[in-house]
Amino acid sequence: MQVIILGSGSPMVAADRAGPSTLVRIGQTDLLFDCGRAVLMRGVAVGMTARDLAALFVTHMHSDHTTDYNDVITTRWITNTDPRPLQAFGPVGFGKFTDATLAMLENDIHYRMAHHADLPHRPQVTVREVSEGLVWEAGGIRVMAAPTDHSPVHPTVGFRIEAEGKVVTIAGDTVPCAGLASLCRGADVYVQTVIRRQVVEKVPLQRFRDILDYHSDIAQAAQTARAAGVRTLVLNHPVPAPRPGTEPEWIAEAKAHFDGEVLLANDLLKVEA
Ligand SMILES: [Zn+2]
Ligand SMILES: [Zn+2]
Repeated sequence: MQVIILGSGSPMVAADRAGPSTLVRIGQTDLLFDCGRAVLMRGVAVGMTARDLAALFVTHMHSDHTTDYNDVITTRWITNTDPRPLQAFGPVGFGKFTDATLAMLENDIHYRMAHHADLPHRPQVTVREVSEGLVWEAGGIRVMAAPTDHSPVHPTVGFRIEAEGKVVTIAGDTVPCAGLASLCRGADVYVQTVIRRQVVEKVPLQRFRDILDYHSDIAQAAQTARAAGVRTLVLNHPVPAPRPGTEPEWIAEAKAHFDGEVLLANDLLKVEA
């Protein structure tokens, strides 16, 4: 099982960090977690296409994690010859969000169907709203969900993928909580959104400092990893984006609380579970 960070960014626009999205690849099966800015551009670099995605899992409906949902839907639709509904999973409210996304696409859907005689079907998305437990299973791959804590954003979920005797946890944006602990137990790879607290605290902008209370900081991510017996912790979606040369400081801050491997994500980082 391979974990590929497609986008390691955050709401802050960065030239070298696409929006949050992570690919988990098991053999020929591609599972996509979140679909932030430029997800399909990063995906094509590693052979991932909207057309062939087995399923999409969304942790929450914050814009940075969903900006390119419409692109995944449209590109899958126009690159397939048959309807092949997109299997999409997200927290409660994701169905309404999907309906709104499809409504936004209505002009484009009309233009393309009117123009292409071989496109008789509309884009199709099969949505399942999830909160806890087994949500997807195929070919010996299991995906579990559990509630996370990103209050006041509610509800949010994280995911745990089990395949080939390995475990990968995609936590999304969350502070430590019981659901996160259950997702992480014994994980080979744990991908966690992190903020660097002492840097964020010094930013003279309250709207920016507001993020302190609903994200794990580096120490909390490391403590979660240690308590769960994780092998490799991936610090993802770092806020603020690390200045060049400061990367070892992020790693060291995690290592102070966790003995395992610590990686700071860049776009297209690949980790074997
Ligand atoms: Zn985020
Ligand atoms: Zn968020």
